[in-house]
Amino acid sequence: MSTHASTTAAAVRLLGAPNSPRAFEIRDFLSRSVVAYQWIELDEASARALPGIQGLDDPNLPLCEFPDGTRLLGATVPDIAQRLGWVRTPRLRQYDVSIFGAGPAGLSAAVYAASEGLKTILVERQAIGGQAGNSSLIENYLGFPHGIGGADLAERARQQAVRFGAEILRLNHGVHTLFVDGCIQVDLADGTQLRARSNICATGITWRRLGLPGEDRLLGAGVFYGAGSSEAPMCAGETVYVVGGGNSAGQAAMHLSRYAKEVVMLVRGERLSDTLSDYLLRKIGSTHKIRVVSSAEITALAGDHRLQQITVRDRRDGREQSLPASHVFVCIGGLPRTEWAKDTAIVRDAAGYLVTGPDLMTEPGKYAQWPLERPPFHLESSVPGCFAAGDVRHDSIKRVASAVGEGAMAVAFVHRHLSTL
Ligand SMILES: Cc1cc2nc3c(=O)[nH]c(=O)nc-3n(C[C@H](O)[C@H](O)[C@H](O)COP(=O)(O)OP(=O)(O)OC[C@H]3O[C@@H](n4cnc5c(N)ncnc54)[C@H](O)[C@@H]3O)c2cc1C
Repeated sequence: MSTHASTTAAAVRLLGAPNSPRAFEIRDFLSRSVVAYQWIELDEASARALPGIQGLDDPNLPLCEFPDGTRLLGATVPDIAQRLGWVRTPRLRQYDVSIFGAGPAGLSAAVYAASEGLKTILVERQAIGGQAGNSSLIENYLGFPHGIGGADLAERARQQAVRFGAEILRLNHGVHTLFVDGCIQVDLADGTQLRARSNICATGITWRRLGLPGEDRLLGAGVFYGAGSSEAPMCAGETVYVVGGGNSAGQAAMHLSRYAKEVVMLVRGERLSDTLSDYLLRKIGSTHKIRVVSSAEITALAGDHRLQQITVRDRRDGREQSLPASHVFVCIGGLPRTEWAKDTAIVRDAAGYLVTGPDLMTEPGKYAQWPLERPPFHLESSVPGCFAAGDVRHDSIKRVASAVGEGAMAVAFVHRHLSTL
């Protein structure tokens, strides 16, 4: 049995089998939600010693214990969120603005909208913070000269939004969207309906996968997407692999190097300098625990219950090498989360990003779909009153600061739109 605490004053205890994907999902959720927790990795004997648990394979694991002494057997993320009091239904019949996605763009929109008197609701499918919540240290965000953890930044923004009166629905998302009588009407996954006079879509992007056989099965059991903030302490004494050569991969490598014996960055390109910011390049160069392997890609993952081996191909000569591996962190960019828009009049580009403002006029044939005499506002989609902010937008700049800026800007356009109704 081994124990890892997210802080010294852990409030929630999570007990489960090593390599349990469900336990990983919960740890990731608690870390990104800035909930203090203790992770207790059981072995067969310690599992059997627990009341109501027959062994490591028992479906009642993972088990979650709350500060009030209550226990949750076979815990899942929605169950835990419910116990923590986070899942609610919309309070109002209609809002001035509904915001989907609580990454930096959505949180910023919620802060500005609520602080400017709009009836505001923010809906988040997973954990507050989006991709930024995954970042161990954001070093280029204005006002934090020593950097700030992404989950910390998100939690501050959440508090700020709530203080101004924004309502936040967690672990919920839209399954069907209709635009009726100038309002957006969304059926939420839990069966409730949300109606608002305007909408800001800030659903960001989701991690791109390797596309290899066995990847889904090994997710959370050796294969992770992003920096693995909650998983890093479990890598002590190991060689771990980070796939990707961009800033998110560089940050992940830096973070993991605090715990692992060695971090190997597998980069498809020939030079890391082509894809990585200069400040990270210098840091990585001076961190002796990080080794960069260029022109390399993973071609196979192997392992029954957890990852045990990877195959790495040298893209220059095609030679393949099998290596023992128990942790691979995949940081190879993302895909926009706009599947919800496919049955609506919202225009997306070929990659699925939402096209807004002046770009609607330059996308061939797309402007014809704009129904009003006035041109669309800068962040407005092809449906009047429906805006997009942050990474989900066509041609967006993938930065925390620009997502925050666009969230604030979108609210200014919401005011203009509402004044025309
Ligand atoms: C590991 C990592 C490190 C990074 N470091 C930096 C950095 O140091 N500096 C920097 O400037 N940028 C950094 N970035 C980039 C930055 O985090 C992103 O540009 C920024 O988070 C984009 O914000 P967003 O709000 O547009 O989208 P996201 O952060 O992607 O948030 C979107 C949110 O929408 C939610 N969502 C998706 N679909 C739905 C739905 N249908 N309903 C409800 N909710 C939904 C998602 O769960 C998510 O929470 C980093 C990114 C990563 C991954």
